[in-house]
Amino acid sequence: MSTVTPMMAQYLEIKAAHADALLFYRMGDFYEMFFDDAVAAAEALDIALTKRGKHEGNDIPMCGVPVHSAEGYLLTLIRKGFRVAVCEQMESPAEAKKRGSKSVVKRDVVRLVTPGTLTEDSLLEARRHNFLAAYARIRDAAALAWTDISTGAFHVMTISPVRLSPELARLAPAELVVADRMIEADLRDLASDLGVAVTPVSASSFDSASAERRVCALYGVGTLDSFGTFDRAEISAMGALVDYLEITQKGKLPLLQLPQKEHEDRAVQIDAATRRNLELTRSLSGTRANSLLAVMDRTVTPGGARLLEQRLSSPSRHFDTINERLEAVSACCEDTRLARDLREALRKTPDLDRALSRLSLDRGGPRDLAAIRAALTQAGAITALCDAAELPALLTRALRALEGFGDLLALLDAALVADPPLLARDGGFIAAGHDSELDEARKLRDEGRSVIAGLQQKYAEHTGIPSLKIKHNNVLGYFIETTATHARKMLGEDFSDTYIHRQTTANQVRFTTVELSELETRILNAGNRALEIEKRLYQGLSDAVLDQAAGLTGVARALAELDLATALADLSQAENWCRPQVDASREFDIQGGRHPVVEQALRSQSGEAFIANDCDLTARDGAAIWLLTGPNMAGKSTFLRQNALIAVLAQMGSYVPAESARIGMVSQLFSRVGASDDLARGRSTFMVEMVETAAILNQADDRALVILDEIGRGTATYDGLSIAWATLEHLHAVNACRALFATHYHELTALAGKLGGVENATVAVKEWDGEVIFLHEVRKGAADRSYGVQVAQLAGLPSTVVARARDVLDQLEKTEREGGKQKSLIDDLPLFSAAPPPQPSPKTSPALELLDDIRPDELSPRQALDLVYKLKDAA
Ligand code: ADP
Repeated sequence: MSTVTPMMAQYLEIKAAHADALLFYRMGDFYEMFFDDAVAAAEALDIALTKRGKHEGNDIPMCGVPVHSAEGYLLTLIRKGFRVAVCEQMESPAEAKKRGSKSVVKRDVVRLVTPGTLTEDSLLEARRHNFLAAYARIRDAAALAWTDISTGAFHVMTISPVRLSPELARLAPAELVVADRMIEADLRDLASDLGVAVTPVSASSFDSASAERRVCALYGVGTLDSFGTFDRAEISAMGALVDYLEITQKGKLPLLQLPQKEHEDRAVQIDAATRRNLELTRSLSGTRANSLLAVMDRTVTPGGARLLEQRLSSPSRHFDTINERLEAVSACCEDTRLARDLREALRKTPDLDRALSRLSLDRGGPRDLAAIRAALTQAGAITALCDAAELPALLTRALRALEGFGDLLALLDAALVADPPLLARDGGFIAAGHDSELDEARKLRDEGRSVIAGLQQKYAEHTGIPSLKIKHNNVLGYFIETTATHARKMLGEDFSDTYIHRQTTANQVRFTTVELSELETRILNAGNRALEIEKRLYQGLSDAVLDQAAGLTGVARALAELDLATALADLSQAENWCRPQVDASREFDIQGGRHPVVEQALRSQSGEAFIANDCDLTARDGAAIWLLTGPNMAGKSTFLRQNALIAVLAQMGSYVPAESARIGMVSQLFSRVGASDDLARGRSTFMVEMVETAAILNQADDRALVILDEIGRGTATYDGLSIAWATLEHLHAVNACRALFATHYHELTALAGKLGGVENATVAVKEWDGEVIFLHEVRKGAADRSYGVQVAQLAGLPSTVVARARDVLDQLEKTEREGGKQKSLIDDLPLFSAAPPPQPSPKTSPALELLDDIRPDELSPRQALDLVYKLKDAA
């Protein structure tokens, strides 16, 4: 260790405590990384790897990023799966020197940056929640707790362990904390499928006794009873979450709302595969674009957008909740003027939640205070707008939550300038006239020169020397200067008490006065003082805001609620959606339903209209299943999905893309697609398809809505047909649910006659001149044929292949009609010739015309040779 410099010793010690993170080690204006950290970061960030000094005889690899642009680099590192420990200098180099000439500046890790603990706007997606979750398991009981520290949301829920996957799919947390002993291959696979970073922590984090203490301490209460009853697994999950926040935020805990308990049975159960398949909040490619969320999002605030995603991810099973939300949308549809004005006001509302969270973590700035001021201003405007309106309960509650912040708003209004800077450090955000001490300090700082000019005037009059000047240089600071001739007067008895001699140069003499040097000190200090005062005032304002944190969180929620209701109303009117009726029946009657995403894509790509279709899956007793056949590309998948989406939309409390919709409450939603659409996921796809189908057959109850698209496609024809057949029978007899079942096995259509709850439906096509025309109309009855060959032709298969396929098909159908065997068919069909058929010869060349007249059998060898010469000439 003798070769280790004191600084490197400090680095190694801090690094040892943060082995699982990259250490951003602050050195002046840079965060430096060393050793393996440097190698990894240089590669991940594509920055230069250099070296600095030696450690145990080897060069020390090093790289660094400037502090002022560190956020961008942080984001890249977090996205690439790193965790970053930010280590700051806790004192200035001067302070360190005071402790001893060899002392190293004190440094400490102030924060651990992980995917689930981001708060900076630049690191977060404004329109998405960024959840940190913890999963606790105590024997058979399990619970999930989750928080978004950028908004303060905090939830907990008991789940059965098999529900972990669907709940994670619903929440899509950025990071999941689990006890290290629980990290198994399954959990890793699950997390990587869902794009969740898994963070193992020691099991003691989950210990339920200390967990309870931790949560109580967070809220400053003696017992959790006042928040509701929580079981051990729930407390353990919450405690682990709080512990993790303490570790990553280094003791500075964010402002968390009281834990809200959620229940599994409050939301429609939708598993990960179904979510993916229906593209609710993410499209199959994993982005927001082209998802239902993206197509329907007309919110004008980040908070509203986050609420929309949350609602769409968790459609409700609670009549009152659904109806209350629908009432709110209806009210906004009816009073379009009010809704429009509300949206105008909301548009000017910044992200209150995130501003509040940053202030609570001491990571905020004047702009966050200004954001709160702007939000409260708009809240006031909104209250005024709605003054006379009669609004339904949800909106009335929201409006009530906006009231009572007049004093805080007045304070912020008076204190802050119109457009404050980002950082408190630089000052300049407190308005003039708010604090007289600050005003004076600033006056001295800014107007120092004119104060000095006034003084110069005064001294000139006092001494009777009009040419007297006050000047400034770096050595003396401010001084009075006069020529040597005049100076004599000032050195005389009358004035020497006031004017203190400082310096004599070749032809000038310089003086100062007590007043001037005092003024100078004040000017020099004024800038610093102004900053100090501003910082103090900032703290005061921040405290005033945080004192009302709970209420402000309510304001944020209310604004989001208003935004969502008006946004959904706006959407419904623009897109002609209708208010659905959700009741306790087992109906499912959609008239004129549409697929919102396909509809919008058609409109923007080809200007084509979407063909609306009805779907009546009303279950009398037992199942109600539509067996949907029809050629590929006819619109089967679209029809299946649009009905599932309509159910989701209705139960999240939104209008739906249809002429009318009556939906008996759906408790579970399942959607599966036959394997070949799922190739990108790179597993034995047929196996996955079967595992997923098994899950449906095992779980779906009589309130489930099941969408099965081409199940069985992933295997050989007869296997596939048999599996589809048995699946359909099971859904009908055992699950007794409402289902849409698309298949290309025409054999299944025969089941409709036999199973009471099964009906045939088909997507109509027209055949015209050997080609198919897709009508996209869903009708009762079975498709007469599948038109696969025609579709293949449309797709541009070579004409020889299409012709050959027609032949084979004709033969197959004939054989089947005549009860023959396929084996003999293969023997009977003439072999396929891959060579293109002879093209009709164009009669344009003279050589070809010559050839026409030739009868080869009549030619002598000599004539044949002549002919070759003639042909060559003609060619
Ligand atoms: P299938 O599942 O039968 O193979 P899809 O549902 O994938 O067919 O639909 C194929 C394409 O047909 C869609 O991408 C869309 O462009 C169009 N389409 C589907 N349904 C409709 C409809 N109702 N109205 C208009 N176009 C539709």
